[in-house]
Amino acid sequence: MRRPGAISSLMSLKFPPRFKADAESHSLHLRQRLGLNARVACPAKLATGVHGILLAAAGALSDEIVDALVDEFPDHLKVRQHLKWVASDTTEFSAIVAIVNGYRMILYNGNNSPARQESDIMHELAHILCEHRGDCLQLNADISLRVHNACHEQEAKWLGAALQIPEKGIFDHVRAGRTSEEIAEIYGASLQMVNFRRNTLAIDRRISYLR
Ligand SMILES: [Zn+2]
Repeated sequence: MRRPGAISSLMSLKFPPRFKADAESHSLHLRQRLGLNARVACPAKLATGVHGILLAAAGALSDEIVDALVDEFPDHLKVRQHLKWVASDTTEFSAIVAIVNGYRMILYNGNNSPARQESDIMHELAHILCEHRGDCLQLNADISLRVHNACHEQEAKWLGAALQIPEKGIFDHVRAGRTSEEIAEIYGASLQMVNFRRNTLAIDRRISYLR
């Protein structure tokens, strides 16, 4: 799960060696598998599909999918209570990974803007790809809010952003003279996300060296 406002305070932590290079490789490889290049969006729905992860808006879940889940869980009431909690906590809730009978599922907040939903889902996909343990909502056990791990959050933030906007892609777009607004449109991303990538990757400075 992502905590609003926690982004900038995380940036002083150290990443494992090669983490950022591997994040870019993940993003390019994912696009390759989908026949996409770095300069186009890779919608979160396709990205999670490649990894066999189910995706559902938490609000929709309680009505449409729970009926299909109840066969799997003896305590129907508890399942419904958990899903209701996830769906109703709209102020803090972005997205969360749930394990449903061994299947990984990302529940996201469908009330957030489409750009925010994309980054929320990519962030959770990043947690899964990084194999961060203890970060899941187990529907078949007592509800367990993830333990906040600053290193895990930093990694998921970086990888999630890289999956959404590859370094190679944003570099090419900026070099071609596109604005951050245009780049946000291309990737279905928020302007904040584009600027985060543009600044932390020092895209403008690197391009200025080429001129
Ligand atoms: Zn997280």
